[in-house]
Amino acid sequence: MIEMVDVHKQFGDLEVIKGIDLTIQAGEVVSVIGSSGSGKSTLLRCINNLEKITSGKIIVDKIPLNDHKANIAHIKREVGMVFQQFNLFPHMTVLENITVAPIHVLKRPKKEVEEEAVKLLKKVGLEEKKNDYPKKLSGGQQQRVAIARALAMRPKVMLFDEPTSALDPELVGEVLQVIRKVAEEGMTMVVVTHEMNFAKEVADRVVFMANGRVEEQGIAKEVLVNPKSEKLRAFLGYSS
Ligand code: ADP
Ligand code: MG
Repeated sequence: MIEMVDVHKQFGDLEVIKGIDLTIQAGEVVSVIGSSGSGKSTLLRCINNLEKITSGKIIVDKIPLNDHKANIAHIKREVGMVFQQFNLFPHMTVLENITVAPIHVLKRPKKEVEEEAVKLLKKVGLEEKKNDYPKKLSGGQQQRVAIARALAMRPKVMLFDEPTSALDPELVGEVLQVIRKVAEEGMTMVVVTHEMNFAKEVADRVVFMANGRVEEQGIAKEVLVNPKSEKLRAFLGYSS
């Protein structure tokens, strides 16, 4: 579903992605972990063209992410993203937040989109909030709306960038539970997270980034329980 070949990304003189090769199969759930500044967000942002790579190749669902506008538009539609800071539209109700892009970008019929939005709200446990504005919701509820909004575009891939990092601890669980449900339904997902238990239980594979490179990767349970590289051992708090 996603193929990255020797991907580099520079901001001015600063190289933050230093040659990443990564292939993600359809239906696979990959957790990306690593210290702050290691390039996790930048890597995700490159996959849906929020950042343009400096060199290398990214292919999403057989479509190369190059300069062709049609390709970029296609990939943006197929790749949903959920951010740390929810980013809901404050002047729209929950229902409007979810339906605006399917109606105006995908040009789908309003009634059908609204029916599907209600189903998605049920899935994330927020059906009764559909006419509320985001500011009336807790952080956990807002993040669940953000997930429903991304799913409403019927993406083939979902990218999550530390989706629970901005939440009070007691709200983390409800959001992880929704993400787990999406994973179990077979969605291809890349989840940047500090929640190691979540990574262990939900991810098929864990990718550990350090300093713009993939330092270690493998089956989640193996990599997290039995890390090989010194950097990953240190990151996980193992004494060597
Ligand atoms: P992570 O998500 O792992 O914390 P990031 O991808 O956010 O790491 O950042 C990696 C590096 O790239 C950091 O040194 C950060 O300061 C830098 N960086 C990220 N975005 C930009 C930008 N738009 N301009 C300049 N530097 C950036
Ligand atoms: Mg980040």
